[in-house]
Amino acid sequence: MQALTNRKKQVERKPMTLMEKLYLPSIFKGMGITFSHLFKKKPTISYPEQQRPFPSVFRGLHILNRDEEGRERCTACGLCAVACPAEAITMEAAERQPGEEHLFREEKYAAKYEINMLRCIFCGLCEEACPKDAIYLTQTVAPANYGRKGFIYKKEDLLIPDPTTDREAYEKAKGTIGTGVK
Ligand code: SF4
Ligand code: SF4
Repeated sequence: MQALTNRKKQVERKPMTLMEKLYLPSIFKGMGITFSHLFKKKPTISYPEQQRPFPSVFRGLHILNRDEEGRERCTACGLCAVACPAEAITMEAAERQPGEEHLFREEKYAAKYEINMLRCIFCGLCEEACPKDAIYLTQTVAPANYGRKGFIYKKEDLLIPDPTTDREAYEKAKGTIGTGVK
């Protein structure tokens, strides 16, 4: 049959030498390569004991923010839900009652606030849409779960610790906030 190209090469089939038949040089060469890797810097880490720092643009789990007096910032305006391309956010608004000024910053607040992390694509649009500095994406990864319900994060799961009662936990949670678009 006529060849389509002239790139064909005739393979030489010369008999193996004694050293090639012993396979020793090839074995030692292979072991040399293996040992040389022992002294090189490991590309892997022992996760989860060791963790790599995330890039500053990383967007992870959300938090609902409080102000310095510990009051919830969210006013249940719904702009984050409207901006969310995955329709992952739902909420129920309630009116602040007299005597609740120390709990909620605005006259209206989110009585219920949920994010479905199975829908969320961590785009950060909710953070950008919020006019009250109330929602942020942190540098924390959403933990694995066996059930779908475990990925529905309620307001209690999302609220940042109160700085007036637990300053350390509040600062720690604040420290996990990413770039902060605002
Ligand atoms: S990060 Fe994006 S997908 Fe996730 S809740 Fe916010 S807007 Fe929706
Ligand atoms: S998180 Fe922000 S945008 Fe979303 S409802 Fe609350 S105040 Fe509005």
